[in-house]
Order: sequence, then C-alpha cells, then structure tokens
Amino acid sequence: MNTTIAENLSRVRAQIEAACQAAGRPTHSVSLLAVSKTWGTEAVRAAHAAGQTAFGENYIQEAVDKIGALQDLPLQWHCIGPIQSNKTRLVAEHFDWVHSVDRLKIAQRLSEQRPAHLPPLQVCIQVNVDGGETKSGVSPQALPELAQVVSALPRLQLRGLMTIPEPAETDAQMRAVHAQAKALFESLRQQGLPLDTLSMGMSADMAAAIAEGSTMVRVGTAIFGKR
Ligand SMILES: *Cc1c(COP(=O)(O)O)cnc(C)c1O
Repeated sequence: MNTTIAENLSRVRAQIEAACQAAGRPTHSVSLLAVSKTWGTEAVRAAHAAGQTAFGENYIQEAVDKIGALQDLPLQWHCIGPIQSNKTRLVAEHFDWVHSVDRLKIAQRLSEQRPAHLPPLQVCIQVNVDGGETKSGVSPQALPELAQVVSALPRLQLRGLMTIPEPAETDAQMRAVHAQAKALFESLRQQGLPLDTLSMGMSADMAAAIAEGSTMVRVGTAIFGKR
C-alpha cells in the first residue's frame, strides 16, 4: 500500500509537470495538495515518506484528530470543506490554510479565534463560479466586496480563490468554467489585492485547471484511491 501511494504520487506529479509544459508554465508554478479526507494516519505517513507535505481535509473533527496524531511530522494542513460557525475555533487553532471561506461571519470568527502564537491563517475565498444554486461559495457578484473586507482582517492573510465547479461534459466546457475563475482572480489582483493562489482542479479536471491558470490542485482519489 505504501508503494502504491508513492507510485500514485509520482504519477500525479508527472501529470502536473506535463500539464504545465503543455500550458507553457513552469512546473513549480503549480503546487499539489494531497486530499487525505477519510484516509487514516498511515496513508498520510506514506505520502509524507514519498515527499508530500501539504494535506487537505474536509471534515473538521476528523482532521483535528489526524493533525494531533501526526504532530511528529512537519506537515501543512489545509481546510477545504464547509465550515459552520460552531467549528471556526477548531479550524483557527489547528489548520495552516483555509480554502473554503464563503461568508464574512466565518472570516471574522476565524480572525478573532486565530491564536496569537500562530502565524496568520492563510485564506482563500470559495467562489461559486458556475452558479449552482445549492452550492457553497460566494457569488462572483459579491466576491469583490467580500475579498476587500477579508483582506483587512488582522489575523488572516488572503491568498486567493478556491473553486469546485460541477463536472462538465467536455474538456472545453470545463476549461471555460476554470477560465471564469481565473478572470475573477485577475480582476481582484488588478484592484490591488496581492493574491498568489488559485486553488482549482481535482483528480478529474487537473489538466484543464492547470491550462487555465490554477496554482494549486487538490488531489485525493488519484493519490490515495477510491473513497
Ligand atoms: C474531495 C475533494 C477534493 C479531492 O477530490 P478527488 O476527486 O478525490 O481528487 C478536492 N477538493 C475538495 C474541496 C474536495 O472536497
């Protein structure tokens, strides 16, 4: 199993490199977040042994237990799942990054609850680019104002945007949605926000996301297997 995770990781890294080359982008312009939700500490240890240090988790209590059990390793933890207000303290105390900030109240609580001895929490705003009614994520219309307010919160550092688009029928359709996210990202940068992270692309749409400017892909299944 450990060799499988190591092999999967090198295949995913090779795919990222190939997608970067195809897009005329340097390989180091895209980082890999290994999504370890539902997998145990042994899987995370195996991935770390194969050189992976950044891990993404969706379920907060599960993540907090795992983070505690892996204190001996120098790992970076990213919260990528929905956050209810009664869970913000756990997120502020245990994670390094949060990709799933989608409203002001959550951002304010994270900033207030971030312990003083830790560096600022690194934050992406989740944006609902393709407009799914029931999906989380701020609307593109509401994004600029939220981004301005979040960027001024003292204990957060706004790094960029995160998207989870619906799977599209064709590669061209998938790329069109990713291109919309990239355009929103660039327009915030033009407004003076110093953003460097576009968290976009998963196992199935990694290459399309990289072609359209993703700087961080979040990959679970292709590394750890089917959940
Ligand atoms: C589960 C999950 C992923 C990883 O998805 P895979 O298809 O397993 O690669 C990425 N991002 C988010 C927000 C997720 O919930």
